[in-house]
Amino acid sequence: MTKLPPKPTNVGERTRIVHAGREPFEQHGFVNTPIYRGSTVLYPTTDDLLHRRGRYSYGTKGTPTTHALETAWTELTRAAGTVLAPSGLAAVTVALMSCLKAGDHLLMTDSVYLPTRQFCEGMLKKFGVETTYYDPQIGAGIAHLIQPNTAAVFTEAPGSQSLEMQDVPAIAEVAHRHGAVVLMDNTWATPLLFPPHERGVDIAIEAGTKYLSGGSDLLLGMVSANERCFKDLRKAYEAFSMCPGAEDVFLGLRGLRTMALRLREHERQALDLARWLETRPEVAQVLHPALETYRGHEIWKRDFKGSSGLFSVILKPCSDKALAAMLDGLALFGMGYSWGGFESLVIPFNCASYRTATRWAPGGPALRFHIGFEDLDDLKRDLDAGFARLREADAEAA
Ligand SMILES: *Cc1c(COP(=O)(O)O)cnc(C)c1O
Repeated sequence: MTKLPPKPTNVGERTRIVHAGREPFEQHGFVNTPIYRGSTVLYPTTDDLLHRRGRYSYGTKGTPTTHALETAWTELTRAAGTVLAPSGLAAVTVALMSCLKAGDHLLMTDSVYLPTRQFCEGMLKKFGVETTYYDPQIGAGIAHLIQPNTAAVFTEAPGSQSLEMQDVPAIAEVAHRHGAVVLMDNTWATPLLFPPHERGVDIAIEAGTKYLSGGSDLLLGMVSANERCFKDLRKAYEAFSMCPGAEDVFLGLRGLRTMALRLREHERQALDLARWLETRPEVAQVLHPALETYRGHEIWKRDFKGSSGLFSVILKPCSDKALAAMLDGLALFGMGYSWGGFESLVIPFNCASYRTATRWAPGGPALRFHIGFEDLDDLKRDLDAGFARLREADAEAA
């Protein structure tokens, strides 16, 4: 075959995302790596089999399809390596299991994704790992919570639903001084808006279900790690045999190529709607890190390259009935868990019942929005009619 020119390594993010993990001339020139399905990998000779010679050894350990996404994600995050998982939560759990053992202590942000918290309270506790929750906005103050057996500090910025910003570099600096591993759930920003390993994170988790997919049509997780942590991460991945389905990985690769463009549009649409919501008389506060008025905005500006499509609002006090009247009548906003797709979503939420290090008492009902690609005027009209229903239901009750 003709010799191919070497790929340039010093390229921009958008070039990287188009080229990462693709080797067309390894598959007859076709642009994308196809879906390899398979358990058994054949070896040509006994000697090859006994020494497991070759790039692939068994379906659970990897295929050209999973290898393509792992390679791309490693390039994008500038990590030492990546493992995939069948969901975002599976990615969180394999990451935690890779760096903790019985007798260890874990520091966990109080604003963490709720199922992550449930994993700590259930599985980690059962296997002898103790978790302490900390105020997400603690910054370098985390030093006071470090114990001799603190093995890991888990961050998530901004926080799930409540959107608190975290000073990840400050937390990482303290954690590293005490020898602890720093993990981050980076699903909100993706490595495109927050380069985790450049900001002090050792193990970064991404729910590929969200922005990698972009279509609400797959479940996937990615975990990238630096030199310090990748070996143990890969060991945990193999121990749990945490392999995702081939089709989901293929769809993840497809989503990857347009992720930068989609994120920019999510950012534009969400910021426009967040600013509009700030002007509404029914809204007490908009929780969006890119708004100048937001606590933690300065940290966001320092560490992040942009914002995504997810934010929350606190409404002025109203009855449950009025809130339901608003939400039940929305024609364009879907109500449901997960996010990151092309369509706009809203859910009511309340963190009060499970927070332990901080108190969630915002003074009114809270809504989380994910803004998709619809016409903004249509979305505003839908919400405007919703607010009218809310006011009407409250007036009737009074
Ligand atoms: C959705 C989500 C997850 C879990 O992803 P799944 O694929 O749904 O398991 C983890 N962390 C955050 C921040 C999420 O939003």
